[in-house]
Amino acid sequence: TGVIAYMERYEDYNIMYLQPQVDFKGIARGAEALVRWRHPVKGLLSPAVFVDVLEKAGLIYKIDKYMWEKAAAKLKEWKELGKEQYHISVNISTKDFYLVDVYETFVDIVERNGINPEKLKLEITETTIMDNFERNIKIIKRLQDYGFKIEIDDFGSGYSSFNTLKDMDVDVLKIDMGFLRTSKPENLEKSMSILNMIISLSKTLGLSVVTEGVETKDQVVKLTQMGCRIYQGYYFSKPIPVEEFEKRYM
Ligand code: C2E
Ligand code: CA
Ligand code: CA
Repeated sequence: TGVIAYMERYEDYNIMYLQPQVDFKGIARGAEALVRWRHPVKGLLSPAVFVDVLEKAGLIYKIDKYMWEKAAAKLKEWKELGKEQYHISVNISTKDFYLVDVYETFVDIVERNGINPEKLKLEITETTIMDNFERNIKIIKRLQDYGFKIEIDDFGSGYSSFNTLKDMDVDVLKIDMGFLRTSKPENLEKSMSILNMIISLSKTLGLSVVTEGVETKDQVVKLTQMGCRIYQGYYFSKPIPVEEFEKRYM
């Protein structure tokens, strides 16, 4: 199928897009790296159509390692240009914890590139942590001891959000977009209360919060009032090619 052909030459077809993570003024602090597949016939494909397939086929680790390397190479370049303040957040799939020595791989990547591990942020979902709790939490702890920052992706969408906070020292919460998208308008108020609660809890616990999926000014204003400081969403920018990110944000 298309996916197999893709995997034979994924290095030719893959591209890293960056979606800015900005403050309320729109100034970028960094970006999330999101994979795109430049399909020779179908054009630019979104990960929504291939990440699942590659996870099931046990191949996602190849794409992920490739993206981690790309992000690190970019951070190295920025560092050499004196732009070390920007970070890049990368995604780690549940399957990577089985097929890759995640600790060794990340340590090797930052050492080879001579970059600060704090600038290569690691996005992990609660589902991944719970998938093999005892083992994964140990790996995460070792990564943090080395200097990496852990972001909990899609926070609030899993079954164990608060247990995750209790059992590990999370650095950043990325609040699930679902709280901004309610199927019924009468549920919006409830969603906003939950967001408010998560943001104040994160303050109590001393965590930073990123709200993902902000699409309107109204959302930014409300979230800022609640105490959110960093945003990632279409209101500011969609994921864009790296050169465009550099031109517009750095
Ligand atoms: P994610 O990690 O939760 O990434 C955020 C997704 O939300 C991105 O979709 C982004 O384009 C989208 N998004 C951001 N702001 C908005 C907004 O305001 N409105 C809406 N409607 N969407 C917004 P994308 O790039 O299509 O990625 C989808 C998912 O694919 C990601 O969700 C992640 O789970 C996975 N993915 C992407 N890149 C990678 C990768 O390199 N490795 C792995 N393992 N998974 C990846
Ligand atoms: Ca993510
Ligand atoms: Ca997310």
